[in-house]
Amino acid sequence: MTLQTLPPYRDRALIGGEWISGTATTDVHDPATGAIIAQVPALGAEEADRAIAAAERAQIAWRARPAIERADLLHAWHALVLCHKDALAAILTAEQGKPLAEAAGEIAYAASFVRWFAEEARRIDGEIIPAPRSNQRVLVWKEPVGVVAAITPWNFPAAMVTRKVAPALAAGCAVILKPAPETPLTALALAGLAEEAGIPAGLFNVVTGDAQAIGGAFMKSPVVRKLSFTGSTAVGQMLYAQAAPTLKRLSLELGGNAPFLVFEDADIEAAADGAILGKFRNAGQTCVCVNRFLVHDKVHDAFVEALAARMDRLVVGPGTHPQSTIGPLINQRAVTKVEQHVADAVARGGKLVTGGALDHDLFFTPTLIADVPADAIIAREETFGPVAGIIRFSDEADAIRMANDTEFGLAAYVYTRDIGRAMRVSGALEYGMIGLNEAAISTEVAPFGGIKASGQGREGSRHGIQEYLELKYVMMGGL
Ligand code: NAP
Repeated sequence: MTLQTLPPYRDRALIGGEWISGTATTDVHDPATGAIIAQVPALGAEEADRAIAAAERAQIAWRARPAIERADLLHAWHALVLCHKDALAAILTAEQGKPLAEAAGEIAYAASFVRWFAEEARRIDGEIIPAPRSNQRVLVWKEPVGVVAAITPWNFPAAMVTRKVAPALAAGCAVILKPAPETPLTALALAGLAEEAGIPAGLFNVVTGDAQAIGGAFMKSPVVRKLSFTGSTAVGQMLYAQAAPTLKRLSLELGGNAPFLVFEDADIEAAADGAILGKFRNAGQTCVCVNRFLVHDKVHDAFVEALAARMDRLVVGPGTHPQSTIGPLINQRAVTKVEQHVADAVARGGKLVTGGALDHDLFFTPTLIADVPADAIIAREETFGPVAGIIRFSDEADAIRMANDTEFGLAAYVYTRDIGRAMRVSGALEYGMIGLNEAAISTEVAPFGGIKASGQGREGSRHGIQEYLELKYVMMGGL
């Protein structure tokens, strides 16, 4: 079976219910082989404007639909995503590279947002506030923000899409999505399934192509009332500035530099298990991936040994091979960055325990470097690759200071068996999310997001839908 024959496969953009091709196209590559697997339309500002107009038209009827009808259509989309989960996972692995089992996990995770927000659509409650005078009533309504632009990255081609589109649709908004150029096929397949589920034309548009032209059209348009962006901090900052003239609402899920603190009282085996999950998922290319391990002097060697033993069991190979656990990096730029971080850590005195080099093509060997000094690049910048750098600390205050010594504030992990310390340290860490003796922190039921240079706003949970709602207050007088 080829990619093109997989049931939800689409290679055209979707504007106002029409699947369109462009005069120019962009190649989509399989990072495992370098082969061109598809070509999608290379569209620009004109098509983005058409999509904005289609969204504006479609949203008028959508916002007036009873919540239960919006919920039912989202439930139908959810069912179709699950029904096609193997084909979607195959598409995702082909364009992104992650192992098939991880891709299937991402599809299930992506579907969980559709289900969650289908449920939340029915719980958009208002308020009645006690009024200052007896002949008045104060009502608070929640209304959809309107037309929403969404821009997503390549590392989670399915989940980043549904985490934005599902709450927007549930709230009564219409969306125009610009997916990452590396991974448009998963987004297009999801949009095809939304259409099949009966979600009306114009509510979920997908415009592939030139980021600056499409993004520029989004940012200039007064019709687009909100931008939800997931990607790098540099691009997020630029979009923040571009949002000023039209005062758009923003949700920004940006870069991270997650610390993983292992205290002397930690369960070292559990910490090493968590480290594998928190560091090597998606070959280290997740925004909540551990970027720095901060390990107490007393357990440094034991932790390194336990982690190295587990890393020996990781298998580098194409995502399509059932035994692979580490797929390719997304492109050559990613490989170069990882190589620089490793070379810098070793040059500054870090001890290479395992790995350290490219396996082949875009496949980097899982790498462990002990005794990394705190000023190494790996301790300061997002590596986005399968490299674990271990930094020592000797007391709690020092560990907290080192963990917070970054512009980022997305996720942090803490391993300790001391309940007092667990609460103290979780309280002191300047991060939006904390994994306490737990590395699997992403779930649709919890508010995902960061502080500082990691962004603003939350996705998922009951808070996620509020990002797509405005408050309207009505003062009733003369009663
Ligand atoms: P990126 O370069 O910022 O790209 C993200 C998206 O923005 C892509 O679709 C990209 O399209 C688009 N884009 C780039 N320049 C633009 C512009 N001027 N106007 C409009 N859109 C523009 O980030 P990436 O390298 O793909 O993703 C990795 C980053 O995302 C990492 O820093 C990671 O931590 C972060 N991330 C964060 C989260 C989170 O939830 N916090 C989740 C996943 C990833 P083009 O590629 O065509 O330019």
